Amino acid sequence: METLVKKILGKNIGIENPESTKDKLIASEICYRRLFETAKDGILILDALTGLIIDVNPFLVELLGYSKKEFIGKEIWEIGSIKDIADNKEKILELQQKEYVRYENLPLKTFDGQEISVEFVSNVYFVNRMKVIQCNIRDITKRKLEEKELIQAKEKAEESDKLKTAFLANMSHEIRTPMNGILGFTELLKEPFLTVEKQQKFINIIEKSGTRMLNVINDIINISKIESGHMEIFVSKTNVNEITEELFDFFKMETEQKKIKMSLKNALPTKEALIMTDKGKIISVLTNLVKNAIKFTNSGSIDFGYEKKGDYLEFFVKDTGIGIHQAQKDLIFKPFRQVSESSNHNYGGSGLGLSISKAFVEMLGGKIWVISNLDTLISEGDNLKQGSSFYFTVPYNFRQEEN
Ligand code: ADP
Repeated sequence: METLVKKILGKNIGIENPESTKDKLIASEICYRRLFETAKDGILILDALTGLIIDVNPFLVELLGYSKKEFIGKEIWEIGSIKDIADNKEKILELQQKEYVRYENLPLKTFDGQEISVEFVSNVYFVNRMKVIQCNIRDITKRKLEEKELIQAKEKAEESDKLKTAFLANMSHEIRTPMNGILGFTELLKEPFLTVEKQQKFINIIEKSGTRMLNVINDIINISKIESGHMEIFVSKTNVNEITEELFDFFKMETEQKKIKMSLKNALPTKEALIMTDKGKIISVLTNLVKNAIKFTNSGSIDFGYEKKGDYLEFFVKDTGIGIHQAQKDLIFKPFRQVSESSNHNYGGSGLGLSISKAFVEMLGGKIWVISNLDTLISEGDNLKQGSSFYFTVPYNFRQEEN
C-alpha cells in the first residue's frame, strides 16, 4: 500500500494517467484526505441520519482545543456551543433537512472558555450511499473584532464631533455674554452725568464680566494643555489649612448674598496640615468645586474641608443643591460635558471645570468622585437631603524632617 501511495504521489497524486480504477480511487482518497488534513478552515463530517460527528480535521481540533476523540460521536452543538439546548436541536434538524445551511456569525466557546465567532456553512452529499453533512467552520473572530473597533471608532468620532459642536456653541455663548456686558456697560459709562453709585455699579459689572471671560479662556488653555500632555506640575511645601481658609473667606460674601450657610472643617491643626504638592492645582480644584456648589445651590448649606484618611487627605465639598442623576456621575468628569447641554445655560459655565479638576487630581496622585442621591431621593419624595458631595484625595506625604 505504502509503495502504491508513493507511486501515485510521485505521479502528482494520480491525476496524470492513473494505472487502474483502484489506484485512481486511492489517489482521490489521498488527495481529499490531504485537503481535509491541511485545510485552514475547520471541517466536520456528520452522519446525516443521526446528526453525530464522524470526522473532524486538525484545524478545528486546534481551533476549539478539544481532542479528536472528544468530537467523535457527539452531536455537533455539544462541542463549543454556547446556545441553549433547544436552539441547538433545532439547528441539527435544520442541517439534516436542508441541502445547504449558512450562519454568518456564530458564537462558539473554545475548551479554555474563550468566545470566538465563526462563519458556518454546511452541505449534504452521499459517500458510498451514506448521507453525510460536511460543515465548514471559518474563524472570523479577528475580522469581527476589527469591524467592532471600526464601528466604535466611528461612533467615537461622531460623538466627539457632536460634543465639540455643542462645546463651541456653548463657548461662544460663554464668551459673548460677558463681552456684551463689558461693551454694553462701557457704553453706559460714557454718559456724562452718571451718579457715583451708578458708575461703581457699572464698573463692578464690567469687572465681573472680565473675570468670567478670563476664567473661560483659562479653562480652554488648561484643557488644551492637558489633552496635549503639556500640563506641568510645580511641587512645593503647601499648607492646606491656609488654602481652605483663604477660599472660605473669598467665597463667604457670595454665599451670604445667596443666603447659603457655608462651613469649613479642617481635620488637622495648621502646623500638621503640610503636604508636598502643586498648590496652584489644589486651589484650582477646590475653587472649582466650591464655585459649582454655590452655582447649583439655591438654598441650604455648603460644607467643605478635608479629613485625614490613611496616607491621604480626603477633601470634600458638600452642597444641598440640585443634585446629580446617577447616569450623569461619570459623564460630568469628561471634557465638554454638562448635565444638560441646554438647561445649563441658566447656570453658565464652560463644562470644562470638572474634567480639568479630574486631570489635576490624578496628576497629583489622587482620585475624584461624586456622591449624589438625586435618583433615590426623588423616588422617595424627599427633597430635603438632595444635593451633591464631591470628594478628592491627595497623598498626605509631608515628612517632619523636611520641615
Ligand atoms: P460647568 O460648571 O462649567 O458647566 P463643570 O465641569 O464644572 O462645568 O461641571 C459639569 C457639570 O456637572 C455642570 O454643568 C453641572 O451639570 C454638573 N455639576 C457640577 N457640580 C455640580 C453640583 N455641585 N451640583 C449639581 N450639578 C453639578
